[in-house]
Amino acid sequence: MGLAHSPGNVCMVSTYRLYKNKLAEQLYKVSIHELDHTQGLPHCPDTTCYMRDASGSYPLNSENDFCAKCKKFMQLKGWKV
Ligand SMILES: [Zn+2]
Ligand SMILES: [Zn+2]
Repeated sequence: MGLAHSPGNVCMVSTYRLYKNKLAEQLYKVSIHELDHTQGLPHCPDTTCYMRDASGSYPLNSENDFCAKCKKFMQLKGWKV
């Protein structure tokens, strides 16, 4: 669905495997996930966190937000999350 250099300046996101009826929501989640990889944020074990590892499945309906740890990381990077 997406790939990113972590950390780096490049990421890409594909809508190919996303559910078409939830495209906007899922695209947002994949995009923010990949963008955060470029900031150096690794995958997260919290299943409701945007940074959970999505490999091999469709987990994009259980994430609601960043967990406290990832949120802190992004705020330190200057992101308003
Ligand atoms: Zn990832
Ligand atoms: Zn997290």
